[in-house]
Amino acid sequence: MRAVIFDLHTHTTASDGSLTPSELVNFAHERGVGVLAVTDHDTVAGCAEAADAASKDLSVICGIEFSTTWSGRSIHIVGLNVDPDSKALLDGVNEQQRARDSRAREIGRRLTRLGIDDPYPAARRMAGDAAIGRPHFAALLVDAGVVRDTATAFRKYLGAGKLGDVTLGWAGLEDVISWIHAAGGIAVIAHPAKYKMTMTKLKLLVADFVEAGGDAIEVVCGHQTPDVTRRLADVARDFELAASIGSDFHHPGQSWSHPGSCGQLPKDVRPVWESW
Ligand code: AMP
Ligand code: MN
Ligand code: MN
Ligand code: MN
Repeated sequence: MRAVIFDLHTHTTASDGSLTPSELVNFAHERGVGVLAVTDHDTVAGCAEAADAASKDLSVICGIEFSTTWSGRSIHIVGLNVDPDSKALLDGVNEQQRARDSRAREIGRRLTRLGIDDPYPAARRMAGDAAIGRPHFAALLVDAGVVRDTATAFRKYLGAGKLGDVTLGWAGLEDVISWIHAAGGIAVIAHPAKYKMTMTKLKLLVADFVEAGGDAIEVVCGHQTPDVTRRLADVARDFELAASIGSDFHHPGQSWSHPGSCGQLPKDVRPVWESW
């Protein structure tokens, strides 16, 4: 029998993905995914529609990707198997959305320096009902002809340390972990390799995460080398964390980031789904 394909990190139009929740479910199903978690940025607004689109071949898990601030950096914590109606979770979501909105206003103020009129309302329109974020400002910069594509927008204006990178204002690790736990979910450090930390720094983060009650770490996220997977599996084992896997899918087009495209977890880690 073929192993079930798990993809426990994906985005929809509820945040900065380009497929609606039901389109995502169909897209993942076509690619053989058996268990899919929808993990939009600081919102569970896509969960109900995704759950409605589930089938006997594809189970949907409600998740969320919380933004947190740790040691002056922006770190993402995925919550898996959360109850989208949990009051504690929704209170946290509201707090984060207020932080997102005030951060977006500040990003807007800063980007006026690039000669764009009123960037905040324009980005707000780009986002529609979705959780507003830097990708909406990136789209605006592309539309305004300031840069030729999203990657350039991040490289020049929105990425770490650039004009539009406003990191203040997210909740801390303890808060987001407590919201996830109150909603019955498990807390997972998202895409550890993306922070470009030294191993020493990453272990400090993981130690604080464990201390704050965190449960798991993404040992496989998107396209990464076997060497990175090996080292993250070692971290998971050393800190007795469960292991998760996900594509961090946002947009169709790049086949290597499609749902279900990042393979399997190594055999010597404890998968997050063992307790489900
Ligand atoms: P925010 O949630 O507002 O902090 O925006 C972060 C999101 O921007 C990430 O989840 C990615 O979807 C996107 N992003 C970050 N870096 C890049 C990049 N270099 N190129 C394209 N998208 C990016
Ligand atoms: Mn994103
Ligand atoms: Mn992320
Ligand atoms: Mn993500």
